[in-house]
Amino acid sequence: MAIAHGNELWVSALGAAALAAAAALALCVGTGCTGGTAGEPAGPAPQPAPAAGPFELPPLPYDRAALAPVISAETLDYHWGKHHRAYVDNLNRLVAGKPEAGRKLEEIVMTAEGGLFNNAAQVWNHSFFWKCLRPGGGGEPAGELAEAVKRDFGSFAKFRAEFSAAAVSQFGSGWAWLVLDGGRLRVVQTANADLPMKHGWKAILTVDVWEHAYYIDYRNARAKYVDAVLDRLVNWDFAAANYAAATRR
Ligand code: FE
Repeated sequence: MAIAHGNELWVSALGAAALAAAAALALCVGTGCTGGTAGEPAGPAPQPAPAAGPFELPPLPYDRAALAPVISAETLDYHWGKHHRAYVDNLNRLVAGKPEAGRKLEEIVMTAEGGLFNNAAQVWNHSFFWKCLRPGGGGEPAGELAEAVKRDFGSFAKFRAEFSAAAVSQFGSGWAWLVLDGGRLRVVQTANADLPMKHGWKAILTVDVWEHAYYIDYRNARAKYVDAVLDRLVNWDFAAANYAAATRR
């Protein structure tokens, strides 16, 4: 049920779920998400909705306005509140009544193909990405990760240049990653929903370079977005914890 209310559209929980399902299905199922950008029609701020399956949209680890001005609240409303939510809703729909409904997200990512893989992987990617950011982040890593960056890239500056180039040059939608590959750090790109675990790499850090990640705030200036995230938002503590966990295995 939808009720026009000023410039906003208020919907009942049931109606919201149905609308989200229809919109998400059109956007993401099949060969995968095509993205969606600031070109979407404006809508109300996202509202919490009950999970319609085993997978839930994780809360952001900070307030929706906490990353501004590098990443605005409006971008997070769309990116987390609409895109990430759509991946979760699609995933729940795709596993309904199937054995995958009882499996862990990582198991689905490692075994699924097509739309199921795309949505499961994008749920994982975004849940990981939000934790790669924090208000007042940026700078450089410390401790073991800093030593490993110097060992494998020569210096933090060389790592930063390589990571930035990977993020900026990824053709179309995708991700730039710092990964651990056989005991050494590497910078890699993945397209669309592809992700390190599919290649046997451990994810240490990522930046989402789908247009939906930056188009509201930066339009086509992906390099400015990447620079701002690296300089002001990267959560090196999270990356260091990932590195420590990956090297213990
Ligand atoms: Fe994204």
